[in-house]
Amino acid sequence: MPFKTLEDLDFEGGKVIVRLDLNVSLGNDGRITDSSRIRASLPTIRYLIGKKASKIVLMSHLGRPDGKVVEGLRMDHVAVELQKLLKRKVVKLNDCIGVKSIIDSSNDRIFLLENLRFYPEEEENDATFAGKLSEVADFYVNDAFGCCHRAHASVAAITGHLPSCAGLLLQKEIKSLSGLFNPEHPFVIVLGGAKVSDKVGIIRNLGKKADKILVGGAMAFTFLKAKGVNVGKSRVELDKLDVARGLLEYDPVLPTDFVIADRMDPEARSTISSYIPDSSLGLDIGPESVRSFIAQISRARTVVWNGPMGVFEMDKFAKGTRDVGKAISGSKGRSVAGGGDTLAAIEKLKLRGFTHKSTGGGAMLEFLEGRELPAIKALQQSAKKFAKRFFTL
Ligand code: AMP
Repeated sequence: MPFKTLEDLDFEGGKVIVRLDLNVSLGNDGRITDSSRIRASLPTIRYLIGKKASKIVLMSHLGRPDGKVVEGLRMDHVAVELQKLLKRKVVKLNDCIGVKSIIDSSNDRIFLLENLRFYPEEEENDATFAGKLSEVADFYVNDAFGCCHRAHASVAAITGHLPSCAGLLLQKEIKSLSGLFNPEHPFVIVLGGAKVSDKVGIIRNLGKKADKILVGGAMAFTFLKAKGVNVGKSRVELDKLDVARGLLEYDPVLPTDFVIADRMDPEARSTISSYIPDSSLGLDIGPESVRSFIAQISRARTVVWNGPMGVFEMDKFAKGTRDVGKAISGSKGRSVAGGGDTLAAIEKLKLRGFTHKSTGGGAMLEFLEGRELPAIKALQQSAKKFAKRFFTL
């Protein structure tokens, strides 16, 4: 890897600031409803504890406060959950800058800064703000893969101030996703979810390497409409019909039957049909399509999955996602799944056994599109700028 990793730095007795993705989902009462992002961050924190770093300062954004203080988006609940899972004291600070003297004069070792996005400078990638963040540390670790497609101060500009490296989660993400550029064949790509527009880049970048591209979810209707098939009231991106038509050269496998209803409602009467009348919309792929998708997946040596096959949030329309997801997670080959809604579906439907579940939604898509992620580029530049601070093995 052209950027540095944890083994390249000597953390003993040093102070380290770590960017994590602790942007957890919150319930209406402001409490955490899913702590998987906190859990995913633990290995790097434990590694730094084991390497005897003297101060470990953790930071993240939470939600979209848009550059101002939003009481409900303070990091306090995250700190409590982190402390519980880590089984170590975590001191929550009420700001993310101007806290050097508090940290230096404290006997405590692990700190969590306040929500980075309370400052507009975070999303502006402001170098001065990044300098202030960096004041508390000798080293910087990026373990927030989910934020690496953004040029924000805590993942990009900060690397100009400190010798910087990737944490364990970031390393694992890059390794697992890079593997998809040289897949073992048969290589099957399974796409679903709402929009074709989100997945165009992946199809263009990985499509020629794939032996099959299976398409479900609402995005299938844009392809079907582009082919002249009647899709009734199904969700379609009318402004993407030309794009979909262009992507037909990749020969995507489209569903041939559907679970249809007259409205998107858990109480709606649904039927299975290969034809969608004008009064209906398709809300899941049907059993024949599921069988044909599973047949392709069961032969694959590599499968990547992004996007649910139907409206999995409603039990009535979740079967396609459950059955296809089960086949992917049970695949003999490598199985990589990712995307916000895909992870939510995996959780809801209790699918287990993937080789890798990516924590990055947009970051995963952009990486697989072959785009350079700004935060990864920043780590590479930092490796050059601070070359003397790293072990040269
Ligand atoms: P994405 O974020 O692009 O992965 O899209 C996920 C969303 O697509 C989920 O909320 C699903 O409910 C939705 N979805 C999947 N299939 C359909 C469908 N046939 N009609 C409408 N929405 C769908």
